[in-house]
Amino acid sequence: LNPELVQNAMALIEPAQRIALLAHEHPDGDALGSILGFSHILSLLGKECVPVCADPAPRAFHFLPGIEKLQTTLGDEQFDLVIALDAGEFYRYGAIYERHSAFLERARVLNLDHHLTSSGCGQVNIIDVASAATAELLVLFQQQAGLPLNTDAAQCLLTGIITDTGSFQYSNVTARTLEAAAVLLNAGAVPEVSVKPIFRTHPLAQKRLEAEVIAKAQVACGGRLVWSYISKDMLEQTGATTEMDSGCVGMLRDIEGVQVGALFKGYEEGETRLSLRTYEPVNAADICMRLGGGGHARAAGATIYKPLEEAIPEVVALLKEAIGEGDDE
Ligand code: 5GP
Ligand code: MN
Ligand code: MN
Repeated sequence: LNPELVQNAMALIEPAQRIALLAHEHPDGDALGSILGFSHILSLLGKECVPVCADPAPRAFHFLPGIEKLQTTLGDEQFDLVIALDAGEFYRYGAIYERHSAFLERARVLNLDHHLTSSGCGQVNIIDVASAATAELLVLFQQQAGLPLNTDAAQCLLTGIITDTGSFQYSNVTARTLEAAAVLLNAGAVPEVSVKPIFRTHPLAQKRLEAEVIAKAQVACGGRLVWSYISKDMLEQTGATTEMDSGCVGMLRDIEGVQVGALFKGYEEGETRLSLRTYEPVNAADICMRLGGGGHARAAGATIYKPLEEAIPEVVALLKEAIGEGDDE
């Protein structure tokens, strides 16, 4: 990481006593692992840390040390510093930004993130696209700034890396990712503690939802494009909750021959959330940015303010165009 930026970030952290750490809405293991992991580290420096997210933590992340401290509002707004993690725009923090926008606009904000499309929402922004996870970036930061580390922090940060790399399976894994993970294992983190609840052992309702998503999958462009959806009816039928959809878009991507996997989620009236996964040369972040969202080259998302029935054909047309010509079948 740029030493000057690390120094500037430490200049914000050092004088701060009470610090809020923000995770983006609909939090994943990287957002939650990062705010909790960094909270543990800053607590070792004697700081009072409040981890905050607009949405409660999915059950799969309840094993994270410190998760019981997670707040869903900024409360009295009495913070010397806000550290925004795993998203580079305020809108990504959802209701936290909506409810506390005036405070956030004038607060001291440090933003640490790894998204391609991040513009940076702090006075100091460390956006490192080479990091597979914000948690990897935080390990680099911890090492470079000479900050302490304990087992709880290590387990949280390892969870971030494991989430965003699909347990070290994705193309974002580098030697540096594994070195950061090694630092965390040396500090006492155990991979299976994170991997099992996130990727393996799920409620039966979640497996049933996954089966429905596969059953409803449609293909085009000679199998290079696959898409499916989750409606509120499907949640009701399977008994699943919205937090159980996290593995669904990956299943679409993992179908042989697929270059673009798209999952459409119609949880709110008149609103469709798109999750996109792609292989080269299709850039998911570019496509989602055109739809008002963003993300990474291989994984991105957007919210389309139309119901499922309208959003799906429009976006599918866009995806076909992005893939280029292919025998439609
Ligand atoms: P997912 O499909 O898992 O919801 O998101 C994939 C990636 O894209 C994640 O890294 C997530 O943070 C990012 N992402 C999802 N939705 C949005 C969005 O609306 N805006 C931006 N900037 N990024 C998003
Ligand atoms: Mn995230
Ligand atoms: Mn991330």
